[in-house]
Amino acid sequence: MLQDANANSALEQRRQAACPRGVGVQTQAFTASARNAEIWDVNGRRLIDFGSGIAVLATGHRHPRIVAAVKQQLDSFHHTCFQVTPYESYIALCEKLNALTPGNFPKKTALFTTGVEAVENAIKVAKVATGRNAVIAFSGAFHGRTLMGMALTGKVHPYKAGFGAMPADIWHVPFPAQALGVTVDDSIAALEKLFKADVDPQRVAAIILEPVQGEGGFYVAPAALFRQLRAICDAHGILLVVDEVQTGFGRTGKLFALEHMGVDADLITMAKSLAGGFPLSALTGRAELMDAAPPGGLGGTYAGHPLAVAAALAVIDVMQAEQLPARAQLLGEKLMQALRALQARVPELAEVRGLGAMVAAEFKDPATGAPLAARVKRIQELALERGLLLLTCGVHANVIRFLFPLTIEEEVFEEGLAILAEAIAPA
Ligand code: PMP
Repeated sequence: MLQDANANSALEQRRQAACPRGVGVQTQAFTASARNAEIWDVNGRRLIDFGSGIAVLATGHRHPRIVAAVKQQLDSFHHTCFQVTPYESYIALCEKLNALTPGNFPKKTALFTTGVEAVENAIKVAKVATGRNAVIAFSGAFHGRTLMGMALTGKVHPYKAGFGAMPADIWHVPFPAQALGVTVDDSIAALEKLFKADVDPQRVAAIILEPVQGEGGFYVAPAALFRQLRAICDAHGILLVVDEVQTGFGRTGKLFALEHMGVDADLITMAKSLAGGFPLSALTGRAELMDAAPPGGLGGTYAGHPLAVAAALAVIDVMQAEQLPARAQLLGEKLMQALRALQARVPELAEVRGLGAMVAAEFKDPATGAPLAARVKRIQELALERGLLLLTCGVHANVIRFLFPLTIEEEVFEEGLAILAEAIAPA
């Protein structure tokens, strides 16, 4: 294995020559190995992982139960395509997701590979079930990088600019957040205005949103927004689609963030921590909606891959056995406390917010309120130099988001917090 002082820079040179710049890369720490909340790069440096491969590793790197489940699956078969010769584990996972997702009504689940594929299929199901075409999403939302995912995403740079015309009939309304100066009433008024000025609500198939905007800045949707959207959807026969790709599987202190909102969704998308690092996504919804597409209308060659399904079944066991949603709540509270203590010394740390362990720190100029992207980048660099991997988010890239494995050891977590404090407020 490559492991010398220059290994990272040699690989960086090869990367730049062989891979397109469109696949942006945050660090030059090329991974050699990882365990729970730690990564070792090819230079032999250790990093504490507060990013989890973008919200994927709620159960950490290489959790022994997940590794064992995947190895066991590998020893019997690893691909048949569920649509050709199906297998029991796919059904078992669908049964579990039908039971675990919020909503006390008959549900069905289809499995896919990436988060955006679940989103694409949610829109397909909504269209075929309602016979309608229009879809409403929110500014600042992130739903993926395929044509439909990109069109639903509410951020132009770098996701949409230059990639041509978007699919038609997709509309955006402002997302309510205090830091954005948008209230729930403002969002609902914008929606009502859209219905008057641009699109007949009887043509709208779905409204899609994240319970906590992820890439957009970790803005927690007020429960009142969900209540009002549910009422509007019911009044007009519109389906409510909740994108839990980033918020799902324990991250917010509940198994699903929707559990905080007090309403049910018609369709729910999941991916990321669902399979703890194996490519898997799921779409769960009301049974009659999920059955609207004809045989062959849903699926994919690798959709519900046996190794990823084995991992997901183990993830759900681990979530329950180790009570990871409760741990998310606990770790999130500790982190919020640490950040709030720093706020006293760092006036640029304008807002600390979050739900469970889905915590964000937003940096703004205290005098002008201008977003401080450069400051956040510097904090990220200082943390990395000291061995802590941090991710950012936000339409203005001025937010640090925290996505550590929920299985992180107490002492590694504390070590990470200490580095974070040094990076935010150097002595
Ligand atoms: N929806 C949300 C809420 C996401 O956060 C993401 C990924 N960041 C996606 C969809 C797309 O998932 P993927 O990258 O697996 O396609």
